Amino acid sequence: MKAFLEILGRGLVELCYPRHCQLCGSRDCGDETPFICQMCESKVTYIRPPMCACCGLPLDGNADGFDDCPHCRGFDWSFERAVSAVRLRGVAKEVLHGFKYGKQTFWRVLIGEWIRRVAARTDWSGIDAVIPVPLYPRREREREYNQAALLAEDFSRWTGWPFMERTLRRVRDTSTQTSLNRQERLGNQKGAYQVRDPERVAGRGLCLIDDVWTTGATSEECAKTLRSAGAKKVLVLTAARS
Ligand SMILES: [Zn+2]
Ligand SMILES: [Zn+2]
Repeated sequence: MKAFLEILGRGLVELCYPRHCQLCGSRDCGDETPFICQMCESKVTYIRPPMCACCGLPLDGNADGFDDCPHCRGFDWSFERAVSAVRLRGVAKEVLHGFKYGKQTFWRVLIGEWIRRVAARTDWSGIDAVIPVPLYPRREREREYNQAALLAEDFSRWTGWPFMERTLRRVRDTSTQTSLNRQERLGNQKGAYQVRDPERVAGRGLCLIDDVWTTGATSEECAKTLRSAGAKKVLVLTAARS
């Protein structure tokens, strides 16, 4: 009976946290991230300096600072800075896709690892709470979870900062933006968010978490809404950048 329960227990653990690489099937997985092999992990491209000091865009060669970034030239973001952990391509793209659309929530462990790596070399002064980019409620019901909230929850546990779930709400569904350019996306996002309890964000420094940075339109609108509600500053942390 005991042996049976042990096997059953291991089966359940395997189901939630599989022990072989979910991308190529190899068993060459470490203890920390038992669902990706070392070969697949090595194909992830981490974003390292030089990068735009403002939006985090990776820059070529000796470029230094946001003056060289075409997205930040002449544009005043509502957040102080944005950083992303990895490039959204290859393995990272597959992982993020499964995490977002495929109910593969076990990837939160690996993605959390990427996020902690970039967070370890980021200046967090003045930040004291973690807040996820919300999904429109119907989308969240369909997907059964908000992928950004899972990452924010783990990051909050790691930093010890409070996790402000459901403080920021999406009041308009803007998820079909794929065909829009940056300017159109910025317009499309206007008024899409609301702060439920402004007194909770007033005077705070917030770390806004999302899975993917595309044009920055979502981060910008969320940061703008949070700042209007009284947040002192907002730093944006995304797992991947397309
Ligand atoms: Zn693999
Ligand atoms: Zn920039």
